[in-house]
Amino acid sequence: MAVLNRLLLRVRARARATTTSYSKFRTFSSPCSIANPEADLKASSSSSLLGSKPLPLRQDLRHPVQWVFLGCPGVGKGTYASRLSKLLHVPHIATGDLVRDELSSSGPLSSQLAEIVNQGQLVSDEIIINLLSKRLEAGEAKGESGFILDGFPRTIRQAEILEGVTDIDLVVNLKLREEALLAKCLGRRTCSECGGNYNVACIDIKGEDGSPGMYMAPLLPPPHCASKLITRADDTEEVVKERLRIYYEMTQPVEEFYRNRGKLLEFDLPGGIPESWPKLLQALHLEDHDDKQSAAA
Ligand code: ADP
Repeated sequence: MAVLNRLLLRVRARARATTTSYSKFRTFSSPCSIANPEADLKASSSSSLLGSKPLPLRQDLRHPVQWVFLGCPGVGKGTYASRLSKLLHVPHIATGDLVRDELSSSGPLSSQLAEIVNQGQLVSDEIIINLLSKRLEAGEAKGESGFILDGFPRTIRQAEILEGVTDIDLVVNLKLREEALLAKCLGRRTCSECGGNYNVACIDIKGEDGSPGMYMAPLLPPPHCASKLITRADDTEEVVKERLRIYYEMTQPVEEFYRNRGKLLEFDLPGGIPESWPKLLQALHLEDHDDKQSAAA
């Protein structure tokens, strides 16, 4: 996997120069074939995306995408990143999932992590980078290439570390009206058996004073999951509010970091999945043939 080889070379070099947590990145061994980022930018300039500034989209099968999803808690990063990862045949890597896997493994980190996560705080960069490196290494062993990162980077320091080790093609910044975010987090449910994600919240914001209304239907579980639903321990009102506060303080500057580098695609979600998915595909110049077929059926 090209990105991982870049990790290997750069992080090794940095590890020699410093003993900071950069050295926590694992090492990888695949042949390097990273595309020249300048060439990418030039190649993309013919495909103008959202307005005047073309963004670097890399959908060449020889260079699987390396994308990042940013957005507040509850915005739907996981939903759209996971759909795109299936469409583009790249892994969807959510650092929140890595943290929850570690939590449920009862490993040495688990009680320390539970306390941090259940208070809505960020896990240390060192722990996150270690978990991410292990996940990338496991993917490397399975022959994975490209990625859609969800929930990483979440701080400027994480963004700088990532920038130092690989070329991110595109950062999709998902945005949703503030009123909907808390309700969406509180409505989240997961099936404890199959892992399916659902949302019992029905968002119905009435339009007023010239601002349009917004409707998002609940995503209800099938009957066989309905009795097995669980709620994330950090999806309580108090903790979600704290996570939102931390997002604005620590993660919003990451938007600016990528905006300054010409990599940020702002995407305002117009509603639920049926309205948003086709528009997101359009913004990314992608087509989902399966979706079209099921809509036509
Ligand atoms: P959210 O719904 O708030 O976007 P996630 O599922 O992405 O939540 O993450 C859950 C928790 O895992 C976060 O509140 C944080 O404690 C931890 N976490 C996930 N990714 C990171 C990261 N990149 N840096 C620090 N902590 C993280």
